[in-house]
Amino acid sequence: MDLKELWKAALGEIKLNISRANFLTWFKGTFLVGLKGDTIYLSAPSNFAKEWLENKYHKNILQALTHLDNRIKKVIYVVTTNSESLEKIKKIKKSARKEKNNLLLEEQLNFPEFSIDAETNLNPKYTFENFIVGANNELAQAAALAVTKNPGSKYNPLFIYGGVGLGKTHLIEAIGNKLKKSKKKLKIKYVPSEKFTNDLVNAIAEQKMDKFKRSFRNLDLLLIDDVQFVAGKDKTQEELFHTFNTLYEKNKQIVFTSDRPPKAIPSIEERLRSRFEGGMIADISSPDFETRLAILREKDKDFSNLISDEILRYIAQEIPHNIRELEGALNRVLAHARLRNHPPTLEETKDILASIISSTRQYIPIKKVIKKIASFYDLSEENILSHSRKKEFVKPRQIVMYILRDELKYSYSNIAEKLGNRDHTTVIHACRKIEEEIKKNPVFAQEITILKDMLYNK
Ligand code: ADP
Ligand code: MG
Repeated sequence: MDLKELWKAALGEIKLNISRANFLTWFKGTFLVGLKGDTIYLSAPSNFAKEWLENKYHKNILQALTHLDNRIKKVIYVVTTNSESLEKIKKIKKSARKEKNNLLLEEQLNFPEFSIDAETNLNPKYTFENFIVGANNELAQAAALAVTKNPGSKYNPLFIYGGVGLGKTHLIEAIGNKLKKSKKKLKIKYVPSEKFTNDLVNAIAEQKMDKFKRSFRNLDLLLIDDVQFVAGKDKTQEELFHTFNTLYEKNKQIVFTSDRPPKAIPSIEERLRSRFEGGMIADISSPDFETRLAILREKDKDFSNLISDEILRYIAQEIPHNIRELEGALNRVLAHARLRNHPPTLEETKDILASIISSTRQYIPIKKVIKKIASFYDLSEENILSHSRKKEFVKPRQIVMYILRDELKYSYSNIAEKLGNRDHTTVIHACRKIEEEIKKNPVFAQEITILKDMLYNK
């Protein structure tokens, strides 16, 4: 069976176990890139889809693949542009080995993700050297660097917080990568908190708690990413608390990241919160224009400065908040440059980035929004438009209103009219409710992001 057939068969199995909407949303555009030893590389069309597959569907994916081919023991998720462009690239690569731009193609195929370290779980692409320091992250970067000089002493624990896509993962992994290099004997582990939870659940189910405990309590450096996800998970918090104490007493270094400060994490035990607060707390905020430009220049350097400064400035100007989006934008531009064999002009860049950049936000009709959101929640459009107060209709209806207003900037009265001739104050109320919940509930916030993302996909 070749990879295409294998994945087709696996998808057939996965489809049976999850809802149609989720299947379509998350598995569209995925494909297998290669099999190396017992590891299969699965490509997702975006970082977002990759994270989602990794965090929510890993079990389904691994199970389906193992059933079909029992050599497969591990799945590594990667992001490539799409299968078509990859195919093209492979072909180009074969026929044009001697061409100069071949260097570029090598880089594209040589995913850094392929080399995630099995023992530490660290991705070698995140280093201090390629982390650009600006006013927004100065303190966090300095604290992180200090930790690498003297682990387990001054800043213990180090708690780094900041919004999505601002460099938390990069920085926490950079600590691990640097220490791994300078002190080879150190036992280091990087783990997103959700993986900590998953591993814990599995350890309990398989009665392997001793092994689980040992694997964390023998470390010299423990890096826990996105610790806000332990909110509301009692068993995880308990285990984390004891792990923390054991390591801390032995002067072992612990680093946390979170999307918010300890005080603002809901439903966590006080004793754990006070541990988070017991060392050094540093935040990362949105980068200013100069820092954004510097980050883009740094990434462009990897591609022999293919993209002109004019275009980099344009991207930095238009994408102000999130470095992940900034990178995403640059990657799109790079992908076009590669496929067309010449760097894009500013006008072309504007076209390429139109769907990302809010100032040129696409027009999406209200009807289409209703349709997409209804189907995400397995409802009909009539359910959304109706005046029924059923709970399962009310929330999605409010979400439709919120997204129409917040993302697509429709007027309250227009939304009210198109959603079954309601009063415009109903819409205002709905938007406020959803806003509040987004603030309170990170899982819900993520759901809204997915929905917004979905609007722009075909
Ligand atoms: P977070 O974990 O805060 O959501 P990430 O660490 O995943 O964000 O960062 C998103 C992307 O932006 C990554 O590819 C990362 O390498 C890049 N990035 C973030 N901050 C910087 C920086 N200061 N310099 C260079 N790249 C950065
Ligand atoms: Mg992160």
